Amino acid sequence: MNGATRSECVVLDGKTLAARREAQLTQASRKFAARHPGRVPTLATILVGDDPSSAIYVRMKGDACRRVGMVSRAIVLPASTSTNELRGVIDALNQDPDVHGILLQHPVPAHIDERACFDSIRIDKDVDGVTSHGFGRMALGQEAFGAATPSGIMRLLSDYGIEVAGRRAVVVGRSAILGKPMALMLSNADATVTLCHSRTQNLEQEVRRAHIVVGALGKPHFISADWIAEGAVVLDAGYHPGGIGDIDPRNLMDRCSALTPVPGGVGPMTISVLLEQTLQAAESICS
Ligand code: NAP
Repeated sequence: MNGATRSECVVLDGKTLAARREAQLTQASRKFAARHPGRVPTLATILVGDDPSSAIYVRMKGDACRRVGMVSRAIVLPASTSTNELRGVIDALNQDPDVHGILLQHPVPAHIDERACFDSIRIDKDVDGVTSHGFGRMALGQEAFGAATPSGIMRLLSDYGIEVAGRRAVVVGRSAILGKPMALMLSNADATVTLCHSRTQNLEQEVRRAHIVVGALGKPHFISADWIAEGAVVLDAGYHPGGIGDIDPRNLMDRCSALTPVPGGVGPMTISVLLEQTLQAAESICS
């Protein structure tokens, strides 16, 4: 495209959007407290093991809860915790009337059946959108808490007024918490979606065809700017130590029409959705 006619690349500033949303959630929490004396929207976070990145993510989520006047109840379990023990902890939280949302930080140690544990979260407390039941409902377009990261990406797209319907979207990565729900949310918003993974042949060609590209494969700077079509919208969900995403940002701004920075793009939107869904859960459980 001719540089003189090309419009500027828009930086999709998740950090600022999330901060704005936090101000609204703070007001909403106050109103909740006024309507339900003695009750506070409460998110229970469960961290199993000592993965330093997971510990940071859980702490960030707890800090965000406190900033908006919600309670964060942090449960830390040793890496030796069994599937049954973890399900026991989740069951207790399911029954606890003072807990409205439950977040089990992914990934759990390999010996634990993560899917079984996710699926033991009560659906009305599944504020991180990880249960099979919630996933199925979301996929069918029924009411459900969506998985937090793809929901945050959809929020970024809508807040910036980026058209999704009728556009070709490519999602790279098909995990249950990120790539798969992302593909379904984009499809539900009427994009034509290709879901790529480690066995995809000629990934570069797939990415090149996309108007909307989501990097969600967990490999630092794996997707090169050269693969991105002129004018595409680029959403990078990857996060690696040092604030590195899955998409190499070198020369990216010259090609795409909009991009998420790393950090400060998708990450803050994930937390924002989690807070919002916790408040919604508290409203419905307490009403
Ligand atoms: P994951 O469970 O490891 O899944 C990675 C996916 O990428 C798999 O589907 C895998 O394909 C695919 N993949 C791996 N190598 C590939 C390749 N060379 N070409 C194409 N696809 C490939 O990862 P995840 O939990 O979804 O996380 C992905 C990234 O997002 C990580 O960087 C993570 O830190 C980040 N993340 C960020 C947030 C946030 O809030 N910002 C939240 C969650 C995750 P197969 O299915 O074939 O194995």
